Amino acid sequence: MSLPIFLIGARGCGKTTVGEPLAQALGYAFRDTDHYLQHSTGQTVADIVAAEGWEGFRQRETDALFAVTAPETVIATGGGMVLAETNRRFMAERGHVIWLQASAHILAARLAHYPHSAQRPTLTGRPITEEMAEILDERASLYQQTAHHIIDAMQAPEQVVAQILDALSLARAS
Ligand code: ADP
Ligand code: MG
Repeated sequence: MSLPIFLIGARGCGKTTVGEPLAQALGYAFRDTDHYLQHSTGQTVADIVAAEGWEGFRQRETDALFAVTAPETVIATGGGMVLAETNRRFMAERGHVIWLQASAHILAARLAHYPHSAQRPTLTGRPITEEMAEILDERASLYQQTAHHIIDAMQAPEQVVAQILDALSLARAS
């Protein structure tokens, strides 16, 4: 049971927040495709989008996904990772895929409360809640069809970790 664990879901759903303690609980490594992109290019996501557009960013995101995937690794993915079929198939075939599901309202509240974590430019320039609802509408079916397990991400992070471990039956005997 050493397959990689892919965390998918919208920006703000808790992939980074939950991924680190999840990896710790399992003795797995933790990787984050957004962090990998920033370190490998020396640019922020916003910089890459400004220089290469979303299309260029998406290609680099696929490269990042392939680069960080390894056994015994928890991988936090960018919110738009599921947009490309290549990425969806890769994750579903290579590991356990977990969708951290949260409402647009909760996601927008988190991003408003912690603006430093909103590293990406908004896609439309419209209010964040409105944009979040629209993005979720577009992507929910992609998250759902890719995920092996759907977890309620609107609980405390420790609860989310516990539910993932439960879903995977990967908790170490204590
Ligand atoms: P992602 O990596 O999916 O974009 P983050 O892990 O960066 O999301 O979380 C975004 C913000 O929401 C952070 O400020 C984080 O502290 C907060 N957050 C994440 N998960 C939870 C949770 N389960 N409960 C409350 N706040 C959370
Ligand atoms: Mg993150």
